[in-house]
Amino acid sequence: MSAGVRARAAVAHGPGEPLRVEEVSVRDPGPGEVRVRIAACGICASDLHVWRTGEGIGFPAVLGHEAAGWIDAVGPALAEPAMDVGQRVVIAWTPRCGRCRACRSGRPHVCAGITTDAHDGSLSLRGVRLGRYMNVSGLAERVVVPAGSVVPVPDGLPLGSACLVGCGVATGFGAAANTGGARWGESVAVFGCGGVGLSAVQGARVAGAARIVAIDPNPARLALARRLGATDVLSPGDGDPVAALHALTEGGVDLAVEAVGGAAAARQAFDALAPGGRAIVAGLTRFTEELRIPVLSLLLDKSVHGSIYGSSDPWRDFPRLFDLCARGALQIEPMVGPDFTLDTVNDAFAALASGRAVRPRVIFEPEPEP
Ligand SMILES: [Zn+2]
Ligand SMILES: [Zn+2]
Repeated sequence: MSAGVRARAAVAHGPGEPLRVEEVSVRDPGPGEVRVRIAACGICASDLHVWRTGEGIGFPAVLGHEAAGWIDAVGPALAEPAMDVGQRVVIAWTPRCGRCRACRSGRPHVCAGITTDAHDGSLSLRGVRLGRYMNVSGLAERVVVPAGSVVPVPDGLPLGSACLVGCGVATGFGAAANTGGARWGESVAVFGCGGVGLSAVQGARVAGAARIVAIDPNPARLALARRLGATDVLSPGDGDPVAALHALTEGGVDLAVEAVGGAAAARQAFDALAPGGRAIVAGLTRFTEELRIPVLSLLLDKSVHGSIYGSSDPWRDFPRLFDLCARGALQIEPMVGPDFTLDTVNDAFAALASGRAVRPRVIFEPEPEP
């Protein structure tokens, strides 16, 4: 057994307790694994959610699941192509094992290996195995991940932007374009304009939706939604958004994406539908939340569909998203910021909690200019 390396990480010791930056042990990659030196990690609403509630994770744990960096070690007999030391990569939170029933049927976004609470021993603190949120734990300087879950990032796309593709962008864009199957000419409502919702707006735009209505109480986020493709915006403070959506679209939308979290927003997404419409529920909620809908309304050919990871296959979809970035059709930078360091990681969580930031980001290592 080799020695591994030491690294600094933000360790969560209990629900709502400030994260502590501590020196942890990171083991060397085993067969089929790589170790990644993290450049940047976005703070996603689900990091905030599990940190506050403790639901789905066992403390102590290292959060962060939206990270990009450089491969700094590869395990023995690695079969993945182009996984050399120094390769710039984004980490996907599906291990994409290739062997489970979901992976075998082309659905790696529900791979059996996905867990919110891995305790694989690759990260440890004074001999205690640390929980690894979403198999990633991007709030550590170095992490060990399956080679199948890292996707090369093309030259020209900064790692600080690419990291968002690892969760928020794939989740939101895919909720609209993959799970929701947005089509040209359709009307789309997006509830919630955080990183996932704004990415759903962009997914709907790229898919050719004619009308994209963004709903959020925060005026700054609505302005950003307009910039990224929303044709109309609604603030719940100005009246019932469901009634407003029906008025705007002659009787309801074709597709509604819920990116708020919670039964109330999911119900609103469903109620916003026209006959034949699809509601896609993508926001993370408490374990106890239940959705109630009138059964009769389903007979109008309406559906509710859950979405995880935007039904994405990282190896298929991330390169496509990178390509859209290169053409300017997908814009990540307007959603990002402000930036923090590992030492100010608690301020990053506070910025997200307050709504000041759409996507705060921890920069571990500024990337050299190309
Ligand atoms: Zn996330
Ligand atoms: Zn699998």
